[in-house]
Amino acid sequence: MLFFIRFISIVTFFTVLGCTTTWHQKGTGLIHFDEALYPNRIIDAHSHFAIEDEVKESQQPSTQMEQMYQNANVVGAVVHLPQNPQKLKKLKIFREKSKIKWAICAPIVPTTLLATVEEGLKRHDYQCMKVYLGYVPRYALDPFYIAFYKLAEKYRVPVVFHTGDTYDKKAKVKYAEPLQIDEVALRFPKVNFVLAHMGNPWFSSAAEVVYKNDNVFVDLSALMLGDVSKANPEAVEELVTKPMRWFWFYVENPKKMMFGTDWPLMEVKPYVQAVMKAVPKEHWDEVFYKNAAELFGLDKN
Ligand SMILES: [Zn+2]
Repeated sequence: MLFFIRFISIVTFFTVLGCTTTWHQKGTGLIHFDEALYPNRIIDAHSHFAIEDEVKESQQPSTQMEQMYQNANVVGAVVHLPQNPQKLKKLKIFREKSKIKWAICAPIVPTTLLATVEEGLKRHDYQCMKVYLGYVPRYALDPFYIAFYKLAEKYRVPVVFHTGDTYDKKAKVKYAEPLQIDEVALRFPKVNFVLAHMGNPWFSSAAEVVYKNDNVFVDLSALMLGDVSKANPEAVEELVTKPMRWFWFYVENPKKMMFGTDWPLMEVKPYVQAVMKAVPKEHWDEVFYKNAAELFGLDKN
């Protein structure tokens, strides 16, 4: 459980942020890979700012985050803002001088005002929206969300859903099941939707929704947590590589899957290496970079 201890502090503040955190650490071992093959451009399509304090002003992106990303060849990141309104209020984002390109997702929770999100979209503060299914006990087609999907259509920004396992034991996971997104995708065919975490562990539901609907995508974030190079290789194979590989063949579309981590819950570089094992090499640039660049507009200046 060293793995757990190492991540205990980030996990603590993440209880409020809300993410998948399935715990699968059954031993230690290393994933072997050829360092020379490591991708030279990566977008992390699922990330968060590490905000430790609700009271203190938090300036983001932090130097630590920038450096960590640069060391991992991450040139762009999609950041989901916290659902906790106190943390959100204290957040100051300075991304103009950053070497990394940022797409910021507005959190859509019951306290969110439509007008505030629209203002943020107009000012280009936001490039996407994040719906915290499960953490918020409402289905994706709850009337509350409909106006936000219309807004996403108007401003042509994608909507990301938390799907699958939730960290918070009090969350109601039935609301995070990916199959419901089929109907959302049909009702809003002009909006692109992303199922976070591949719907973990409902991979087959997520795959069917992605396969069937042109406007549904997945991020590959956080199928395990922490540093997967220190996890049992067999567990990594079963819980990360195999589901991703199966998903890849099922959806038959190299544009549908996007690399993501759920940083700071995961170490980026070892997870990149695990995903390299799951996706055919000739499609790495799409999965690690191009798909997210196009979907979140990170290929524009
Ligand atoms: Zn997350």
